[in-house]
Amino acid sequence: MTDTPAKPTRPAFLNGSVKRLLIDGQQVLAESGRTFHTINPATGQVLAEVALAEAVDIDKAVAAARRAFEGPWSKFTPFDRQAVLLRLADLLDENFDELAMLDTLDMGAPITATTSRRRRGIALLRYYAGLATSIQGHTIGNSQPGGIFTYTLKEPVGVVAAINPWNGPLGMAIWKIAPALAAGCTVVLKPAEQAPLSPLRLGELCLEAGIPSGVVNVVTGFGEAGAALAAHPGVDKIAFTGSTEVGQHIVRASAGNLKRVSVELGGKSPNIVFADADLDAAVPGAAMAVFLNSGQICSAGTRLFVERKIYEEFVERVAQFARSLKVGDPLDPTTQLGPLVSESQLTRVMGYLNAAQAEGARTAAGGTRLTETGLENGYFVAPTVFSQVSDNMSIAREEIFGPVISALPFDTIGETIQRGNDTPFGLGAGIWTRDTDKVQQITRGLRTGTVWVNCYGPMDPAVPFGGYKMSGYGRESGTEHMDEFLQTKSVWLKGNAHQI
Ligand code: NAP
Ligand code: MG
Repeated sequence: MTDTPAKPTRPAFLNGSVKRLLIDGQQVLAESGRTFHTINPATGQVLAEVALAEAVDIDKAVAAARRAFEGPWSKFTPFDRQAVLLRLADLLDENFDELAMLDTLDMGAPITATTSRRRRGIALLRYYAGLATSIQGHTIGNSQPGGIFTYTLKEPVGVVAAINPWNGPLGMAIWKIAPALAAGCTVVLKPAEQAPLSPLRLGELCLEAGIPSGVVNVVTGFGEAGAALAAHPGVDKIAFTGSTEVGQHIVRASAGNLKRVSVELGGKSPNIVFADADLDAAVPGAAMAVFLNSGQICSAGTRLFVERKIYEEFVERVAQFARSLKVGDPLDPTTQLGPLVSESQLTRVMGYLNAAQAEGARTAAGGTRLTETGLENGYFVAPTVFSQVSDNMSIAREEIFGPVISALPFDTIGETIQRGNDTPFGLGAGIWTRDTDKVQQITRGLRTGTVWVNCYGPMDPAVPFGGYKMSGYGRESGTEHMDEFLQTKSVWLKGNAHQI
């Protein structure tokens, strides 16, 4: 007997043949019969064969979502919508180990990380279930003669295309579906091709929870399927999370029928450490602001600005922390970092590691692919810290989406604001200091959607998250998120008061 927890078992969902699309409550093959493979990035081996949706399948899914929106779903009262979302939350809880396992196998996040997302997933569903019964218009006093009464109705925007990346397949699917359903919309979800499995399983659970057929449709496929959705005249709103480049495509594609659009895009977030900070907290804080999920987090604090007088010492401590992290088999409960999601992501990150070395950055930790026995067929990269980075190097300017920190020294508060903002992105930022004057000045100066002070990365269903600048627009989480799925109708009601 040992104390080491047993490795979790292979989910039953992986048994059987092709994983099918979910359209109108039915699990169906693509019209063309075509499929694609999703890969386990820890081994490079095929994990499952998945139906490949194309434009014709998107047409069917959008039509089903429209029928459901105008039909059964429109009969659901706010309390009914709340009840099914709460039931889905309970089913998520019951089935969470399987879902976490699917994400670990499909995109490589360690099993301890995917299982620890249980609380957030359930909390998101319960939070939006609550908001389903809190949708409110206003009564508005007007200045028109004749006693006309005016009020607003909040109405669901309609059919939502939710298009997601691979870095948090389950959580991101919930984050889109839950508010859309709470608002009374229906959804066609297009997960990323690299990690389609947990969203498909979530679709099954939606049906089991009593959500009517066609309210949630899941179409797996490539970028073409996303593009067909983005351009589709039957879609009323696109909720997109992904790269800035694809976000721009989406905005252009939305113009045909002037869809509502929200886009949560990339980042190159500054994380600013002052000498007066609690450095024992700031060292792991700075490291995990990037290394969590192997750096595949949009808000990762990849530009680590460190006050010059502690720069050398601090960077060395972060490098030591990086070296102490256990990278390996994501199914091993002692693993802290898994592989990157795909071979192409590995190639991209290795390109940046080579560029950094060529441009003159100093490698304080990592800097290489890991190919030791057991990891050689996977896409593993050592957690990497570069020092002597200058602002114009590619690693300081471009989103890498890998476990790579670029450490830059600074001297003044003004410089942290100016250099922190010197990027097209504006998603997140961190500040580590005990001085509240610095906190006030820098939080106001930074043009980012979130600022974390003496911490990095916490998220909560009630707290809005989203970008400034080219990190996108629209907010997810919080009551503002519901507004993305609602529209306002003003009603002018002229009564016959004179007849009374
Ligand atoms: P991506 O390449 O932009 O893909 C995102 C989704 O869009 C995928 O489902 C993709 O399908 C689909 N797609 C591709 N081309 C399309 C097109 N022309 N029209 C419509 N849809 C299309 O992003 P990714 O590589 O999966 O994810 C990494 C990026 O996401 C990073 O830049 C990261 O910063 C960003 N991200 C942002 C946030 C945030 O909240 N701000 C959160 C997570 C990730 P395929 O998978 O089939 O290509
Ligand atoms: Mg995969």
